[in-house]
Amino acid sequence: MSNGRFGVHGGQYIPETLMNAVIELEEAYNKFKDDPQFKAELKDLLDNYANRPSLLYYAERMTKDLGGAKIYLKREDLNHTGAHKINNALGQALLAKKMGKTRLIAETGAGQHGVATATVAALLNMECHVYMGVEDMERQALNVYRMRLMGTEVHGVSSGTGTLKDAVSECMREWTNRIEDTHYLLGSCMGPHPFPEIVRDFQSVIGNEIIDQCMEAEGRYPDYVLACVGGGSNAIGTFYPFIEHEDTKLIGCEAAGRGIDTFETAATINTGSLGIFHGMKSYFCQDEFGQIAPVYSISAGLDYPGIGPEHAWLHDIGRAQYVPVTDEEAVCAFEYLSRTEGIIPAIESAHAVAHAMKIAPTLSKDQIMVITLSGRGDKDCVAMARYRGEDINE
Ligand SMILES: *Cc1c(COP(=O)(O)O)cnc(C)c1O
Repeated sequence: MSNGRFGVHGGQYIPETLMNAVIELEEAYNKFKDDPQFKAELKDLLDNYANRPSLLYYAERMTKDLGGAKIYLKREDLNHTGAHKINNALGQALLAKKMGKTRLIAETGAGQHGVATATVAALLNMECHVYMGVEDMERQALNVYRMRLMGTEVHGVSSGTGTLKDAVSECMREWTNRIEDTHYLLGSCMGPHPFPEIVRDFQSVIGNEIIDQCMEAEGRYPDYVLACVGGGSNAIGTFYPFIEHEDTKLIGCEAAGRGIDTFETAATINTGSLGIFHGMKSYFCQDEFGQIAPVYSISAGLDYPGIGPEHAWLHDIGRAQYVPVTDEEAVCAFEYLSRTEGIIPAIESAHAVAHAMKIAPTLSKDQIMVITLSGRGDKDCVAMARYRGEDINE
């Protein structure tokens, strides 16, 4: 892969005014990514601030109950701020500092990436502005409060549907206006090159740790690794170190919403088609005219109408499989993991748990499966109760 291409996917479909910014970023990233000092500083932040390495936990009760493959959970939910997003936020913020930037901007949908960015901005003493759809601001008032508490300014975006895709577009516009002192801290493995590569590398700490921890516990690589896919950052971080190791099967779990045969879905690989949006070529949910379609999932972190270009390529070459998981299946998995292991997963992560529940019983007991638990589910309890017809106060 070269020039930010993953097969036909990826690339840089951006206005001329952003070219200098992405070139500057690419040069800086190439300079610092193998720099021993940069790596040592990032490792120190990951270990001593974000609580890495995260546990690889043997889910014994779940394993016995499902009666097939031996199941491990990669516990990204135990990271500071409760999800994998901090891995990328720390990496990019440190890189921005090295580039002499003093200001961060970021998009957020559910608010998880906004909170991770606000967190690292506070830690590294940087000015921070987060762009968020007005619709999402209302639904995620607690995360808006968190970001403001940590000194970040939250800007409502009312264009389009007032959701994540509009916040990304607004961020790109904002970056064009002010490149000198500002880094756009993009939240998933998407957008124009070099973002998909940068985010993937910073999230690959997940897969690298899985390999070390699985070798230690089992003396070999897992047979299956599963992760949920929104833009695809926790999944690509999980998959990337395994790509060359063909014996390990890679499964990405997309949000099917109310089903892939309905319009209320966010399953990009399963229902989308090739297109260009947000600076990249990849698969997108779109209508017959190429207009980006509204997407839906019970999980706010998964309802993005595209998927990162490296996933699109892994799908094309058949190296990874992308399966749809409905709201109902994810909610059942959310409840199942809570009562079986005492671990409340993020509803995003529950999509991966749901697919594991389908296939684990069909596998033999000597097979090993690792599910990346991208985040914790405290944030989802009110919505899950509501889904079951119960109204609990926040
Ligand atoms: C944001 C988020 C996701 C989806 O983002 P990816 O880039 O696909 O990883 C998944 N899980 C959690 C907990 C999230 O916060």
